[in-house]
Amino acid sequence: MYQTPELRRDRGLADFWTGRLAGTDLLNRDRISSITILLTYRCPATCDHCIFESSPRNKAKVDVAVARRLIEAASRQNPPPVVGFSGGEPFLRLKEMRELVLFAAERGMISEVISSSAWVHDHAQARAVLADLLACGMKTYCTSVDRFHTPFVKAAKMRTAILAAREAGLHVIVNTQKDESMHYGGDDAIVAYLAATLDLPESVIREFQVNPLVTTPVGRARDMVDDYVYDPSKDMNEGCPMATEIVTLSPYGFLYPCCGMVLGEKPETAGLFIQDDLGTRSVDEIAAILEELKSDLFFKILQALGPYRLLMELKRRNPAIAVRDRYVGACDACLEFTANPAVVEEARAYLQECAQRLALDAA
Ligand code: SF4
Ligand code: SF4
Repeated sequence: MYQTPELRRDRGLADFWTGRLAGTDLLNRDRISSITILLTYRCPATCDHCIFESSPRNKAKVDVAVARRLIEAASRQNPPPVVGFSGGEPFLRLKEMRELVLFAAERGMISEVISSSAWVHDHAQARAVLADLLACGMKTYCTSVDRFHTPFVKAAKMRTAILAAREAGLHVIVNTQKDESMHYGGDDAIVAYLAATLDLPESVIREFQVNPLVTTPVGRARDMVDDYVYDPSKDMNEGCPMATEIVTLSPYGFLYPCCGMVLGEKPETAGLFIQDDLGTRSVDEIAAILEELKSDLFFKILQALGPYRLLMELKRRNPAIAVRDRYVGACDACLEFTANPAVVEEARAYLQECAQRLALDAA
């Protein structure tokens, strides 16, 4: 059945995952739960860890017509995904965001926004803006609160945004980048940090959804951050549930079937991750792309095995490949598939072999 010499030489990854996974594991993960639109890379802040190297000078912004076509196409999914807005600072494009929130709501899609809260002036203004967005179809307000943001955005603005969002009736999420003491101190240390920073009681912090995040060496962080948390007990052998489930549109019009750190890499090195340039694509074409990405072999493998196990399999296949010896997490391991040309080349060859094998299996 397996006729080509190359495939006999190394059945490789196909054996690797068929030996460990039921076929249904690869077939059932076909839901797009969220599309994220990076409205702009411009931002009033210049945080040290920013993966997009956002700043007041970065002018890249999404074409609203492209964003509308993506929302329209995504609304054909069943159930339709949530629409997320981020950046850069998405509130720098409040008018366009409001228009897109309404456009999504008309198609049965709810929205959420991730912001630094730099846009906040006072409680009344924040409440009015957020109440209006809620009325348009926004359901969630997420703000970042951590040691990287507070030098640029006053913690009082973050607190005002959180309280105004809660008062307006939005679901509130707090994203925070963990340092070592927060990582090893667990939930209590994270809550204590947020309570002290926001000047709010710990009981209030516990009412909100808190997402502790690990800082990853990509974008500006590569030069500006030196306190990454490399936890030796971290299980790197996990699949990525986000691959193809969360689809992101970059300000350059590129579609990524993930929401990870690879978005911060230069598009010319992120070819394995970029599904398409949506700049000239019609709604029908984008809808077809969204269907196709559900069976993209690379992302299926990332879902099932995770980037680290794929990386180790490539390394087993070609021991000459040099890879880093530690990663802060799965997205960090994924960066090898962008910034490491030898890994990219081996991955492309391997995916081609696996695709041939699967085609032969199906024949
Ligand atoms: S991390 Fe967020 S707030 Fe900070 S510079 Fe980047 S986009 Fe702006
Ligand atoms: S692990 Fe890889 S595929 Fe998953 S979200 Fe991170 S960068 Fe994207």
